[in-house]
Amino acid sequence: MSVYHDLGTRPVINACGVYTDLGGTVLTPGIWAAMTQANASSVDMIELLEAAGRVVADLLGAEAARVTPGASAAIALGTAACLAGADGAAMERLPDTTGLRGDVLIQAHHRYKYDRMVRLTGARLVAVGDDDGVTTERALAAALDGASTAAIMVPAHLDGIEGTVPLSAVSRLARAAEVPILVDAAYLNFPPAAMAAHLAAGADLVCFSAKYFWGPNSGGFIAGRRDLIEGVAVGDFTRYESGQHLIFGRPYKMDRQTVVGTVAALREWFEMDHDARLSGYRATVEALARDLAELPGVHLEPRNFTMIETYGAVPVNCLYLRLEPDVARATPAELEAGLRAGDPSIRVIGEPDGIAIVVETLVGDDANVIVERVRDLLDG
Ligand SMILES: *Cc1c(COP(=O)(O)O)cnc(C)c1O
Repeated sequence: MSVYHDLGTRPVINACGVYTDLGGTVLTPGIWAAMTQANASSVDMIELLEAAGRVVADLLGAEAARVTPGASAAIALGTAACLAGADGAAMERLPDTTGLRGDVLIQAHHRYKYDRMVRLTGARLVAVGDDDGVTTERALAAALDGASTAAIMVPAHLDGIEGTVPLSAVSRLARAAEVPILVDAAYLNFPPAAMAAHLAAGADLVCFSAKYFWGPNSGGFIAGRRDLIEGVAVGDFTRYESGQHLIFGRPYKMDRQTVVGTVAALREWFEMDHDARLSGYRATVEALARDLAELPGVHLEPRNFTMIETYGAVPVNCLYLRLEPDVARATPAELEAGLRAGDPSIRVIGEPDGIAIVVETLVGDDANVIVERVRDLLDG
């Protein structure tokens, strides 16, 4: 009986990729061992976070860094640092921004799912763009106001899209106005050396999620300018606990295992043979394709499922099963529901004309279980 059955639920085979709703990835034995060691004794959390931050900063070649409970918390804490700096009294007043520069600018086409984290601090998120959402350098320069602009937020995966000013140009404007740039690069961690690219391009702070480098799902970090990282430290849970500053960051609490696991995962990510990782995905997809060949009305296509949930060619990380209507033994919706219904529940990406089996998050015997269940649902 698994711990999940004991609680009245069931385990899931994750053939979707990294999703918080599925609890993140299965941690490697190395990361789990580090977390188990951290469990064995207490530690001074202020010292641990300072030491962990130095290791993370060294890996990236950044001035400073601090582990946070995810990238969302990194955005909120980084924003707080841009608002209040390392001034504990000002930090304590948040989300009341009276007397502080309280606006965070974002280009209209950069609005995205996680930008609301900025507002948790009390900051006002101000979108800059014309009626079509287009932002020009001139409009951004005009919106930058020394008296009210605390930061500019840039989601890195949207940097340079049409109708926006690229980070390099934003950086020139921001520097002239002495306004920091906060970048969310949550999943832009490959190759590892690229994790410092946004700081090199002029960002002052950059946020990452540990979920995307196979770390604890509730881990992440923020890296960048030393004075701003000091502000993050003033705003996070450690100072609350020590009674120094009763700040809004208290709910962004971490246990020591998460801090240690995040650093262990980042170290593994930098040391990993990524060519082997990617060729492993291809080999798994090819094995699945062999085992699922010749099902009626099923067309198999090795594909790349991207972080923005679109499909490309390479690197191959998923097998797309396209189902021919009236020939395949199930519709895509029936196949997805059939896989989801069992125990373990199998989660795949459902599409109008088929399903995608993403192999990055498969472990152990998962691929064989999937083959068996897909065959059951689609065989003659
Ligand atoms: C997942 C994600 C986040 C949030 O990261 P957490 O570590 O889950 O808080 C932020 N930004 C982007 C682009 C993400 O994909």
